[in-house]
Amino acid sequence: MLPTTRTLRLSLYTLLILAGAAVAATLAVRHAEREALEEDASRANQQLALYANSLHTLIERYRALPAVLALDPELRAALKGPVNAVQQDALNRKLEQINGAAQSSTLELLDHTGLAVAASNWRLPSSYVGHNYGFRPYFLQTRTQGTGRFYAVGVTSGIPGYFLSSAVTGDNGEFLGAMVVKLEFPELEREWRQGSDTLLVSDARGIVFIANRPGWRYRHLQPLTDSDRAELKTTRQYDKQPLQPLAYEPLRRFDDNSHLARVEAPDGPADYLWESLPLSAEGWTLHLLRRPQIAFEDRRNAGLAAAGLWLTLVFLLLFLNQRWRLAKLRQRSREELERLVEERTRDLRTAQDGLVQSAKLAALGQMSAALAHEINQPLTAQRMQLATLRLLLDHGRVDDAYKALKPLDDMLTRMAALTGHLKTFARKSPSGLRERLDLAAVVDQALQLLDTRLRDEQVSTVLHLTRPAWVRGDAIRLEQVLINLLRNALDAMAGQPLKRLEVRLEADDQLWRLTVSDSGSGIAEEHLAQVFDPFFTTKAVGDGLGLGLAVSFAIIHESGGRLSADNHEHGAVFCVTLPIDQEAQLHA
Ligand code: ADP
Repeated sequence: MLPTTRTLRLSLYTLLILAGAAVAATLAVRHAEREALEEDASRANQQLALYANSLHTLIERYRALPAVLALDPELRAALKGPVNAVQQDALNRKLEQINGAAQSSTLELLDHTGLAVAASNWRLPSSYVGHNYGFRPYFLQTRTQGTGRFYAVGVTSGIPGYFLSSAVTGDNGEFLGAMVVKLEFPELEREWRQGSDTLLVSDARGIVFIANRPGWRYRHLQPLTDSDRAELKTTRQYDKQPLQPLAYEPLRRFDDNSHLARVEAPDGPADYLWESLPLSAEGWTLHLLRRPQIAFEDRRNAGLAAAGLWLTLVFLLLFLNQRWRLAKLRQRSREELERLVEERTRDLRTAQDGLVQSAKLAALGQMSAALAHEINQPLTAQRMQLATLRLLLDHGRVDDAYKALKPLDDMLTRMAALTGHLKTFARKSPSGLRERLDLAAVVDQALQLLDTRLRDEQVSTVLHLTRPAWVRGDAIRLEQVLINLLRNALDAMAGQPLKRLEVRLEADDQLWRLTVSDSGSGIAEEHLAQVFDPFFTTKAVGDGLGLGLAVSFAIIHESGGRLSADNHEHGAVFCVTLPIDQEAQLHA
């Protein structure tokens, strides 16, 4: 893949991951907002119920008051006939007194036409006495239904309040007039003003008549029809108060009475959580408007958490993917390695097989050459000797012929000895054979086997042998060791002008020390540690197999001795140590 494509792909992935994190964060923030809003809404709803309860309790406290007063005989008597000034004064004072005790706003007594005959506020300039309220719906309701209730702005006082009324009836149940109590809610409004929420009470037409914030009162929440306006005019419910619409646009609806809305509030447009609670007894609706407050930290935390979660997930996936890939790669490289090892082992085995085969062939070759050499020479000599013998017998020189038989005999004996050695050499020795033998004799035999070569190569041999040198071991195998050492010495001296071979055998404490030193090339320093390794050879291919010293080392070890190599001034020196066979030595 081109590096540019790679970088491009990398940046694309990074961008995708970051975009994913951004989307996750946005969704989480939205979700957090919605959650917080809904939670806020349900909390506001609970509070709204509390507010409704306090309003309801307040009204309930006075509901019975006009009904009870309507039963008062004095009031009933007053409505039966015309009221004189003295009676009126007494009634005014009575109502004033009751009003004070009941802590209602105003009490008034209306006759059957709606004219106020007495009122608790008779002392004030805004006194109801003498005014006719027959047009007010509560009076009409009372006359037809026995009770009435109506929220309105006082036409005389200008103060809004809730009018609750009960019919005053004669002995025969005829309608004499109405007992009216007016409730104002200054305390309630004051109390409601404490909180930060906006609290509104609207009537059945959706006109707000109680509000704890300035500017919200006398706003209508739904459009007013012409008949609404006409009726408002006759009942003078809100009298001279101008009614203005309150514009709002719902943004999100939680349920029928709960939603989020953008409101053109008197103090500027804003979003509000708007909770409504219908007050069925009064036909009103209580509203609670609250500015949604979602803590910046909450939103940030939600966003961060979501982004974090997203990134963790992505990185976990990437990590797992990477691991999986790595495992696959490892598996593949392990298989490759195994295959390689197998291949190499196979190659090695083939090479080893070849080597063993060539070692066998070389040994065979060497053996044939040695045999041919050892046997050919005496055979030629013997043929010549026989010709001489025949000549001597032809001439009847029997005595001379006898004399000539002697060297023939010697030569045959030597050949027999040679083949004897070869036979023992070829014999496969049972390992672990520990016969008593004289090491000096073993040296003799080895030297004898190599006698021809020693002579041919004009090697001066120096022997210092302690005799007998009793050891325990396998003569044939020890001889093989000696032959190896001597052959190596001869090989090392092959190109040297001076050829001196020295073999020493002497006692050293409990050991026989046998050293074979030559005047050859010596062993290179770096090879000293390797000469006993199997297949280590510095000789030309075909000449050496590198097995001689390795085999020798093993044989000496087997016999409980040691074999070591070193250099002296003019060449190499090999040292064999073997334990002295004390028992045999004592008897010697
Ligand atoms: P090979 O004779 O077939 O090489 P050996 O195990 O007998 O195997 O000898 C290993 C090597 O040790 C020889 O190739 C040679 O380099 C070194 N070596 C052995 N004997 C002598 C010696 N007398 N002088 C110098 N080098 C020797």
